[in-house]
Amino acid sequence: MSFLSKIGKRLDSRYPRFFNGLGRILSPVEAAVKKPVFGCHMCGQCVLHSTGMTCPMECPKNLRNGPCGGVGEDGSCEVDRSKTCTWFKAVNRSSKTPWAHEIYERNPAVDWSLEGSSAWVNAMTGRNHHDRKGPQWQKVHFVKPGEKPMYSGSRFERLLRAGEFVVTCEVNPRDSADGTELIEYARTLEGVVDAVHISDNFLAQPHMSGTAAAGLIEQQTELETILHMTCRDRNRLIMQADLLGAHAMGVRNVLCLTGDHPSLGDHKEAKPVFDLDSMHFISLVKKMRDEGTFESGREIVVPPKFFIGGAVAITAPPREFRPHRMAKKIAAGVNFVTSQLVFDMDLLEDFLKRATDLGILQNTHLLIGVGALPGPKAAEMINKHTPGVTIPEAMIKRLAGVPPKDRRSEGIRIVVEQIQQMREMPGISGIDIMDMRPDAWFPTPEIVELAGLNNRPSVPPLEDRAVS
Ligand code: SF4
Repeated sequence: MSFLSKIGKRLDSRYPRFFNGLGRILSPVEAAVKKPVFGCHMCGQCVLHSTGMTCPMECPKNLRNGPCGGVGEDGSCEVDRSKTCTWFKAVNRSSKTPWAHEIYERNPAVDWSLEGSSAWVNAMTGRNHHDRKGPQWQKVHFVKPGEKPMYSGSRFERLLRAGEFVVTCEVNPRDSADGTELIEYARTLEGVVDAVHISDNFLAQPHMSGTAAAGLIEQQTELETILHMTCRDRNRLIMQADLLGAHAMGVRNVLCLTGDHPSLGDHKEAKPVFDLDSMHFISLVKKMRDEGTFESGREIVVPPKFFIGGAVAITAPPREFRPHRMAKKIAAGVNFVTSQLVFDMDLLEDFLKRATDLGILQNTHLLIGVGALPGPKAAEMINKHTPGVTIPEAMIKRLAGVPPKDRRSEGIRIVVEQIQQMREMPGISGIDIMDMRPDAWFPTPEIVELAGLNNRPSVPPLEDRAVS
């Protein structure tokens, strides 16, 4: 905190009525100046300086630390393709400012109680919590293999910490109030993968609660889960409540996501929440685990011990910013990172090079999203309608070049070749196998076997490492 903000804070605590009055006078002036010039949304905690003078509250997901994975190849927003992504503009504009480095710093979570008030007065008095000198990723201590303590002691964490190449896949909770079929399906994956990702209202559509589905799988199968939680449908109160509930049901790995916008699903009329974004969600889980308190500071009797994950959109524009967004997540507290689907190996190599140059790859465990393409038409549809996922033309031609009856095995052959390449790439700790046609054509066991990954390693014992 700067010397001036310390003085401002002290004066505010002594003369709050004066600053409240000043805020009431200044906020209409501020709105009149900043709305037409910067498209200001009067959040009351201005970060324009660090975003290339682009108001991040223009983003329909209220993201404060960089773009989501839905940015189109042309830089368009996933919610409205006729508009340019706010963060695409911010990254471009900020590179032209003398203070370009500020976009790489982590902005604090939005304090919604300040909405509509004067950001000038809030900055003067330190009410904006704008201490952006928080730890950057370079200062984060990354626990090396073999080092104590464990974060959660989960099987997934132990395998990664032992340096094993981990295999995970996605399981989508069903449109059913009965878990029997989900459990039967999950059992077919026992011994095939090291952990299963449980999606959270996949494709922005309601299904059985991911938290409940993960709890059922934890309790009724041999599988371990990685619970996905998005900021789309919850505010920070229910997020914290759900985390405690998930932990009580046996979940030890959690993947913090922003989530697709409701306009992409089948309930377009739903109100998006986005109280926090994934960056702040990560720090919230870390605080609960490491400090044993809720965000408010209230003590948690038994804090949840989670192995915390985040996502990275490796092939989505603006690609030069993606390693920096991952660095921010590492600074926020992730222990592992999972990518969106990757088909373009050149773009993957480019990302790994940038991430290596930045020095972040040794600070986390990176899992790459892979999947088998069912055929050339599906590939073209994904290229057209799945933002952030790029399928090279040569791959589409290869699929089109085989008779329709052989396309399924050709799709599997392609992904197996890619997995074999990934196993040789430094910085990649494992894969997450995703399904192109959710649960209707699920080739995970075949992919695992053909890639030579079917003998899953045994888990290093927990006794020789302390659980924090
Ligand atoms: S593409 Fe994503 S980050 Fe960009 S403005 Fe739209 S919702 Fe926000």
